[in-house]
Amino acid sequence: MTPIDTLISYSPATGEEVGRYPDSSAEVVHELVARARAGSLAWRALGFKGRKVILKKWAALMASRIDELAQIVMDETGKPKSDATLEVTLAIGHLAWAANNAPRFLRTSNRAPGLIMANMSAKVQYVPFGVIGVIGPWNYPVYTPMGSIAYSLAAGNSVVFKPSEFTPGVGFWLGETFNEVARDANVFFVVTGGPATGVALTQSAIDKVAFTGSTRTAKKVAASCAERMIPVVLECGGSDAAIIDVDADISAATDAVLWGAMSNSGQTCIGTERVYVMDKVADKFIAEIKRGAEKIKPGKEYGAITMPSQLKVIDSHIRDAASKGAEFVVGSVDSVQAPYVNPTIMVNVPEDSLAVVEETFGPTLVINRVSDVDEAIRLSNGVKYGLAASVWSKKNADYITSQLQCGMVSVNSVIAYAGIATLPFGGVKESGYGRIHGREGLREFTYLRSVAKKRFSIPLATMSFTRKASTDALIKKLAELRNR
Ligand code: NAD
Repeated sequence: MTPIDTLISYSPATGEEVGRYPDSSAEVVHELVARARAGSLAWRALGFKGRKVILKKWAALMASRIDELAQIVMDETGKPKSDATLEVTLAIGHLAWAANNAPRFLRTSNRAPGLIMANMSAKVQYVPFGVIGVIGPWNYPVYTPMGSIAYSLAAGNSVVFKPSEFTPGVGFWLGETFNEVARDANVFFVVTGGPATGVALTQSAIDKVAFTGSTRTAKKVAASCAERMIPVVLECGGSDAAIIDVDADISAATDAVLWGAMSNSGQTCIGTERVYVMDKVADKFIAEIKRGAEKIKPGKEYGAITMPSQLKVIDSHIRDAASKGAEFVVGSVDSVQAPYVNPTIMVNVPEDSLAVVEETFGPTLVINRVSDVDEAIRLSNGVKYGLAASVWSKKNADYITSQLQCGMVSVNSVIAYAGIATLPFGGVKESGYGRIHGREGLREFTYLRSVAKKRFSIPLATMSFTRKASTDALIKKLAELRNR
């Protein structure tokens, strides 16, 4: 028998071991995918109502054990308790929403058959793919993958989930609790392991991949899926901007932008990394955000950096900006104090700095002054990412929003779209494609099947070798009349 390799999970805050899980081999992945395929038939046959009962039971079980899951999230990511708890509750919200709304948004719809095909009925069906492979990150290890897991299951698919190697315990817990509400259903499996387990999942007999993680890995996942023509949803990184207009409520903006930039130690895909503030209000904005940031203490308002290698990335972005002339309003070149990073705010940061063009993923913020909203829009759009943005304006809010190349915008707020289950979540450009959450998120895990059904015969036989010259003439005449 092949020995089972072990994946050890460590606390980023203390460096202590917090759990041991299997480092799943390709063999295990393939076996579980086969079991998930077998289970998917009965799951599909349960219908929306039957699946809803089980998914709601799972949501209720999770809700009754929020503290237990939040503790694992805290242990593995280093988050403070309140953030871990909030994350778990948001994930449960999505699970319940997907279960409740799948019947409504995945209902077969009737379409108009058109004049020449008037004897046919036309329908569009939303068909579950079969088995979805979900690959998750560590920064929101419950909320993020649940956006794919819950929606896939509610749509009638079975799921094989590979959590991040930094948060295997969270994934394991999700698998165990699902099993408690649907023992031996063979519809939700968790395969813990590192990148090789993820590779094996993309190469297995799954029907679609829902990936959340870095852009670098997303490109590899998409390439692997292309080998078998498997569709893929890619939820990747960002370098999100906040635009502060002259008529913005500066106090509200500084409070929200500071939280958007620093909460979860800045390890948020939709976290604010850049601010473009109108010259006229820049001094006030910078003074207020400095006051707020000086009150934030690493280890209290936010935790340790989860992935030790990220400390180097954050450090290199800070030093690169400083070497190019950026000035520190809060923090310094020595902001990285492993395993924590002190709040760091830099102004006058050249637009070609790493902190601007790349995702820093730390509690850092770039603030640059602009002379008008068009300059702010141009600079916001000037990076390779296009995940989300935040707009602070009264008069120009709609105009600014309409010009931004990104998948989500929060106006006079930050990250608000993520708390609204009905809104689709996802980006453009190198932030990925496809959508989770909302009705679009349910439909993402189905393919469309168009069905045309003959209701009665008419003399106009168009799809036959017996088609008459009079039919051709009639069709031609109709086309001419209708397109005058
Ligand atoms: P990552 O790309 O390093 O890893 C993500 C997952 O992919 C992990 O489970 C990993 O084991 C797996 N993996 C690694 N190599 C693989 C391969 N070749 N084939 C298949 N799977 C592979 O990302 P991360 O560091 O875990 O997460 C942080 C990133 O995720 C950030 O860039 C963040 O912005 C992004 N993110 C995006 C969203 C979103 O919804 N857009 C949400 C959360 C996080």
